[in-house]
Amino acid sequence: MAKKRSSEKRVSVLLVEDEESFVDALTIGLNREGFDVAVARDGQQAITLFAKDTYDIVLLDLMLPKMSGLDVCRAIRSTSEVPIIIVSAKGEEVDMVLMLEIGADDYVTKPYRLRELVARIRAVLRRRESHENVMASDDEITLGPIRMDIDARRCYVNGVEIKLRKKEFALLRLLLENPGRVLTREVLIDRVWGSDYVGDTKTLDVHIKRLRSLIEDDPKNPEHISTVRGVGYRYEVMKP
Ligand code: CA
Repeated sequence: MAKKRSSEKRVSVLLVEDEESFVDALTIGLNREGFDVAVARDGQQAITLFAKDTYDIVLLDLMLPKMSGLDVCRAIRSTSEVPIIIVSAKGEEVDMVLMLEIGADDYVTKPYRLRELVARIRAVLRRRESHENVMASDDEITLGPIRMDIDARRCYVNGVEIKLRKKEFALLRLLLENPGRVLTREVLIDRVWGSDYVGDTKTLDVHIKRLRSLIEDDPKNPEHISTVRGVGYRYEVMKP
């Protein structure tokens, strides 16, 4: 469980960062925004600290002494579902698909503004909270305006039934089961069409387009199913 204080609800952050200038500025800035910050200056220390205490979120630099951010992410993920935001430096070769596959929740690129980082942290925490609030059972998923009746293979938007084809249904279900998480194109195609699918990968986009036309108020400016360029798609979780 996340560490919480009784009187004030401060968020505890494990900041894994080896650049002193970043550490100082971030610690001060995040404190001011109401976060408690613990700092690990290399990958090994991150693992040690994480094993000793609980944190609400991990900010993980990619280039670290002793152990790479990716290995730290893998190690933490093997024992915990804590939200992880990967921080990479500009110009660094970053395989975003790989990062998401090993379980990172989001990523930011240095240099960034504190305000942007704080917004990302809050968004990730909010998504996690909504994930816990998704009403899901074997036969029904409800999230925001959408309700899916799995057994009956029916879907409703604001109580009005929409007709979905088999693959559309499977795709929407997969997105809803992972609110706020980026699902890579590979994962979506694999899970909906099967790993032996050899057809046009545009098929995925066509299905997304059709889903948007059914569930979005303005399909050209989707609020629910957003595109993560070059990576995949994400079902957004709205502010409560
Ligand atoms: Ca670094």
